[in-house]
Amino acid sequence: MKRRKAGRLIAIILILAVAVAAAVLFLVHKIKEDARAEEAERAAAEAAAQQQAEEEAAAAKEQERLDRIEAEKGEWYLILVNNQNAMPDDFDIETVEVEDGYYIDSRVCDALQEMLADCREAGYSPRLISTFRTRETQQYLYDHTANKADTAVPGHSEHECGLAADIIDADSLGWADPLIAEQEDMPAQKWLMEHCQDYGFILRYPADKEDITEIIYEPWHYRYVGKEHAATIMENGLCLEEYIENMEDYYEAQ
Ligand SMILES: [Zn+2]
Repeated sequence: MKRRKAGRLIAIILILAVAVAAAVLFLVHKIKEDARAEEAERAAAEAAAQQQAEEEAAAAKEQERLDRIEAEKGEWYLILVNNQNAMPDDFDIETVEVEDGYYIDSRVCDALQEMLADCREAGYSPRLISTFRTRETQQYLYDHTANKADTAVPGHSEHECGLAADIIDADSLGWADPLIAEQEDMPAQKWLMEHCQDYGFILRYPADKEDITEIIYEPWHYRYVGKEHAATIMENGLCLEEYIENMEDYYEAQ
């Protein structure tokens, strides 16, 4: 009888011991689990905070870019002068002589001289035939042209802004009219069309943009817009109207 009691007691103790051990194991496991869950929560919160910070930084950078675009559009070198946009009356011009009595905006002169010099260095013969025009000269040209559709109305010519240069190959000087599409085949012109953006110039009236520019293809009229814009415009095959209207799609803030 005593032995049976002792046996039962041992059994109860054993069961209790197992139960306690199980409880301890369960508790340890639960504590570990809770710690893990807490850690995961903290990591998630950290990641969310970082993502938000990144998004805010990206938004601020984009706003900076858009602000820069607005500022660039107001710069003298991106002025848009065409049939719809007259040259502003207060547009400030100070001209200097490039060569042979041809004048251009003093801020553009170095770039134009460098382009002409490098073109000559490469073995070609570029020749200026029109640069800065006064309002009176533009008026005279307009009054005396046989084709008014191809001549800018006074106040609407880039030549009056002092930012444009008409350049032909000297070998075409003997042509009845050198200002024709065939000018594009002349060696000096090919060089200029390929390299003008390196000096901040664009070919202002491309062949396939006549609907937008409302000016015939002019493979001789170069317009200064600055190197950065010139590279983007020429590499993307745009005209100035398209570029200015969609600058957000192309302009990378520096
Ligand atoms: Zn021109």
